[in-house]
Amino acid sequence: MSAILDTYNRKKISFKRGKGSFLYATNGKKYLDFVQGIAVNCLGHSNDHLNRAIQKQSKKLWHVSNAFIIPEQEKLAKRLKQKTFADYVCFQNSGVEATEAAIKFARRYFYSKGQPRKNRIICINNSFHGRSLATIFASNSKKLTEGFYPKVDGFDHFNFGDYKGLKKTITNRTAAIMVETIMGEGGIKVIPEFFLKELRKLCNKKKILLILDEVQCGIGRTGKFMAYEHAKIRPDIVPIAKGIGGGFPIGAVLVNKKVASGIKPGTHGSTFGGNPLAMSVGNTVIDVIFKKRFLNNVRKNGKYFQQELKKLKDKYPKIIKEVRGQGLLIGLALYSDQTNFIKKLMDNKLLTVKASENVVRLLPPLNVTKKEINLALKILNKVCENYK
Ligand SMILES: *Cc1c(COP(=O)(O)O)cnc(C)c1O
Repeated sequence: MSAILDTYNRKKISFKRGKGSFLYATNGKKYLDFVQGIAVNCLGHSNDHLNRAIQKQSKKLWHVSNAFIIPEQEKLAKRLKQKTFADYVCFQNSGVEATEAAIKFARRYFYSKGQPRKNRIICINNSFHGRSLATIFASNSKKLTEGFYPKVDGFDHFNFGDYKGLKKTITNRTAAIMVETIMGEGGIKVIPEFFLKELRKLCNKKKILLILDEVQCGIGRTGKFMAYEHAKIRPDIVPIAKGIGGGFPIGAVLVNKKVASGIKPGTHGSTFGGNPLAMSVGNTVIDVIFKKRFLNNVRKNGKYFQQELKKLKDKYPKIIKEVRGQGLLIGLALYSDQTNFIKKLMDNKLLTVKASENVVRLLPPLNVTKKEINLALKILNKVCENYK
C-alpha cells in the first residue's frame, strides 16, 4: 500500500537510472523516453553539462534569500532578456507560479495606471495554465475545477480558434488575453501564426496586454527559443518553466518595460525562486540550447519526425486521425481513446504521455538523434500494425 495521496494514475514501473533519451527500469528493461518529464528534461537524462554545473555550484552555494543580489540570477535574467522580447525577468519555481505571477503582473499594470477595475483576463476554454485556484478557473476545464468551487472570478473565455467569439468577450474591464502559444495538455493545438498576429493587433487596438503561456512550448521545444517567434510578434508577458530547468524546478516570468512599470519592491516574491543552485542549471541549459546548430537540429528532427508520422497516419488512416505540433512538441491524435495505445507503446519500450482529444504526446529530448526517432517510429509502426 502506497502512502502517496492518490492524485495520479501511476504506471506500475519505476526507473533507477537515465541517460539521454533512455530510461533504465528497475525491471531490467531499457525504455526510449519520449515523455522526458513532460517536456522538462530538454537535454535528456543525466546530461553531462548539467551534471557538471550542479556539482560545481553545489559545492559553492545552494540558496540565499532574494533579499540579496544573486549574481547567477542576474546572469540568467540578462541572457533571457537578450534572447527574447523581455526587458525584465522574475524567477519562480514552477509553471503554475509563473502563470499566476503573470496574471498578477497584468492586473498590477492597470492598477498602477489608475485603472484597478481593468482586471479581467480572457483565456481559452479547456486550456491549461496550472493547478492553483486561480489558474484552474483560468483554464476553465471541468476536469480541473470539479470540486474546487467557489470559483475564482476574473476570467472570461472563448473557444480555441473562435476569433469572433474572442472579440465579443473583450470589455472595458479586460486587462489581458492569456493563451498558450501551443496548447499542450489541451491536445497539442497550435495557434496558427496569422491568429497570433491578429491577437497582437487586437491587444494593441484595445490597449490590453498579451500573455503567452510558454511553460510547455518555450525553451527550444518548437525549434525556436520561444514559440511566439514563429509568428514574429512580441508579447507583453510570458511565463516559462519546464524546459528552462532541464529537470531542476525553475519557473520565470518574462515582462516588457511597460508591464515592469507597475512593479516595485514588495509587489511579488518567492523564497526559493532564482536561488544559485537553480540558476546554475538554468544558465547551463541556455549555454547548450544556444550552441551552434542546436535549434537548427530541433527544427530538422522535428520536421523529419512529423513527416514520418504523417506517413504512418496515411498507412493507418483508421487509427491515426491527425499529426499535430511544431518542432519536437508533437501530438498524435487517435480516433479512439489513447490509453491502450500508450500501454502498447510502453510494452514495446517506448514511453509517451496522453493529452486531451485522444492525443498521444511525443516529447523527445531536444538533443534526440535521428536514430532514436527511427526507433520510436519502428515501435509506433509495430503497435499500429497489431492494433485493433
Ligand atoms: C505544465 C504547464 C503549467 C504548469 O506547470 P507546473 O510546473 O506543473 O506548475 C502551466 N502552463 C502550461 C502551458 C503547462 O504546460
